[in-house]
Amino acid sequence: MRKIEMVDLVAQYGRLKSQIDSAVLDVIASGQYINGKHVDDFAANLAALTGARYAIPCANGTDALLLALIALDLKPGDEVIIPDFTFIAAAEVVAMLRLTPVPVDVDYKTFNIDAGKIAEAVTDRTRAVIPVHLFGQCCDMDPIIKVAKEYGLYIVEDNAQSINAVYTFPDGERRTAGTMGDIGTFSFFPSKNLGCYGDGGAVVTDNERFARKLKMLTVHGQERKYEHVIIGCNSRLDNLQAAVLNVKFTHLNDDTAARQSAAKAYTERLAGCEGFLETPYVRQESSHVFHQYTLKICNGRRDELKLRLAKQGIPSMIYYPVPVHRQPAFKNLVKQGGDLRVSEELSQSVLSLPMHPDLTAEQIDFIAAEITKQIR
Ligand SMILES: *Cc1c(COP(=O)(O)O)cnc(C)c1O
Repeated sequence: MRKIEMVDLVAQYGRLKSQIDSAVLDVIASGQYINGKHVDDFAANLAALTGARYAIPCANGTDALLLALIALDLKPGDEVIIPDFTFIAAAEVVAMLRLTPVPVDVDYKTFNIDAGKIAEAVTDRTRAVIPVHLFGQCCDMDPIIKVAKEYGLYIVEDNAQSINAVYTFPDGERRTAGTMGDIGTFSFFPSKNLGCYGDGGAVVTDNERFARKLKMLTVHGQERKYEHVIIGCNSRLDNLQAAVLNVKFTHLNDDTAARQSAAKAYTERLAGCEGFLETPYVRQESSHVFHQYTLKICNGRRDELKLRLAKQGIPSMIYYPVPVHRQPAFKNLVKQGGDLRVSEELSQSVLSLPMHPDLTAEQIDFIAAEITKQIR
């Protein structure tokens, strides 16, 4: 059996080698390294996939969030609602811009921001909310959009983990993750569902004014060369990385399906562990693209199980061990948006298993059998 990895990028490369090699060598031979055909093609591919009118590549997913918030023109001290249980990037960019991050508790079942608790956290300084579509499934966007409309809040969707996920509104309308708010942000970090061989990111929007501004922000605030209309930065996707992404793009649907069947196999094989652990809940309103397959381990035995699995050669990860409001850098920066009990509880019980499109049935069987053996 092949060595089990959380994400097996080497196996994926083996599968795509001839396509990737020729795309990469073409770029090197072309002499065009910054911007270029592959970047333009990638922007078009992302727009087509998501259904967004504009897609603007940038350097990474954290920059994508930063650019999105700058584009909204918020004022220092304005409050931005974020989930408390998440990767730190959303909190970080909010604080970096001297805005106030307001962490709100999450929903126990889905790990996503609890839509029902957003209104309580709104004050007269609240300007925006950042729903993070965590682990591969969409936040409950229908009520989030309603609250945002009621209080006049911008919505920036952090879609670093859920590219290709689809949300169905009560009226039957279907939208892809990242296109339901004002701006959606993406990361193409190597381990994401669509990843390059370095850093990469993008923002998408339907709003022409935001699109124009976002584009300028990525190239020193210029609309024409050496004419700087606004203060911007340098945040570009490399042509080389775009070439890699365009190859992987053609496999994204298959890779997503492979993740979904791996998740199904895990859940079936772990069915006998009820009472010891909970397998991921898939909500009706959203598809799940399984960026992570995350268990909740009951009875405080998470850390013990993690160690025991490691001894059997099975890696696992705790995403995320410390909620935003408990992070040292944020202790005095955040303003808690209500009680954060679920977030606290999840940080103690979550355990993510190996998840990638190249997991084999043999590996899944082995992992599930070891978990069943160790946890009872
Ligand atoms: C990975 C990730 C980011 C940041 O993306 P980078 O490309 O690493 O900067 C932001 N938010 C979430 C939820 C992520 O998982």
